[in-house]
Parts: sequence; structure tokens; C-alpha cells
Amino acid sequence: MFTVSTESPEETADLAQKAGQRIREGTVLCLVGDLGAGKTLFAKNLMKMLGVETEVTSPTFSLMNVYEGICPILHFDLYRIEKEEELDELGFYEYVEEPSGIVIIEWADKFPEALPEEYVTVAFQGTEREGERYIFFSCQGEKDKDFLKELEEIC
Ligand code: ADP
Ligand code: MG
Repeated sequence: MFTVSTESPEETADLAQKAGQRIREGTVLCLVGDLGAGKTLFAKNLMKMLGVETEVTSPTFSLMNVYEGICPILHFDLYRIEKEEELDELGFYEYVEEPSGIVIIEWADKFPEALPEEYVTVAFQGTEREGERYIFFSCQGEKDKDFLKELEEIC
């Protein structure tokens, strides 16, 4: 686990692009933190590095958006999901159990039981200073350790 602090949206974007350079196919990335913490901004910039050329929009209302970059990327937002059954209807479990690309999940901490065995968590926290965020990286399981180690080295 490691922590990075950013002073501006641009710094968070830069961090997300670094993550995009190192992330592996098959990774499930859980983005957690309050509204406005920076989850979608991070997702957008990470996807830029994965070659997504279309505009990335927040899946708050669509619940799931699909992109094609160097691999398929699924972008979920669980904010508006109230019951776990809705995840089933979305096909969430099939997508996250054996991801065929990269899966990004905003508000993943709302349904901890629905998460696969191995995933990366990126937690965003505002501070008393305007524009500053603490960003905590950690992972569950062994699979993503190398990715996080490499990212820590370049941060
Ligand atoms: P979320 O998806 O977590 O609800 P967004 O990424 O949509 O949040 O929005 C984050 C907002 O916070 C943006 O308006 C962004 O400009 C602003 N912001 C200010 N400072 C930062 C920072 N250090 N990192 C990320 N976003 C920041
Ligand atoms: Mg968002």
C-alpha cells in the first residue's frame, strides 16, 4: 500500500496516466471516495493511456459504459444502485469474475461482497486544503502487486 498526495486535478490526471501505463489486462480497479473526490477524473485519464479516443463520461446514470482501447474497458458506477440484485441484472458478476479487459468500478465499496477475490483499490480523500487529495493505493490478493510496485516506483 502507498499514498500519493496531489495538489490539483492536473496532478491527479498525471497520476492516473502513470497508472494507465502500468496497469495489466485483467485488473479490477475499485475507485472509492466521496462525490467530487476525483474518481471519474482518474478513470478518464487512465483510459486515455489505454488508447480510448472517444469521450469518457461518468456512468452515474448509465451505470456501465463500455470502451475499446488496447483492450476492452468497462466503467461502472454503483452510486445509484440500491440493491445487489441490480448488479446481477447488469451482468456485473460475469464481468468482474473473469475480466476480459480492465474493469473500473466507482463506489465499489458500496457492495464489498460483490467484488472478486483480487482487485486494486484507489481511495480518494479530500483534505482541508482546496484542490488537495490524498490517494491511497492498495490491493486485495497477489495478482496486482507488481502493478502497484511499479506504479509506486514511478510516483
Ligand atoms: P467523482 O467521480 O469522485 O465524483 P469527479 O472526478 O467527477 O469526482 O470530480 C472531481 C472534481 O474535483 C473535479 O471537478 C476536479 O476538477 C476537482 N478537483 C480539485 N482538486 C482535485 C484533485 N487534486 N484531484 C482530482 N480532482 C480534483
Ligand atoms: Mg464519478
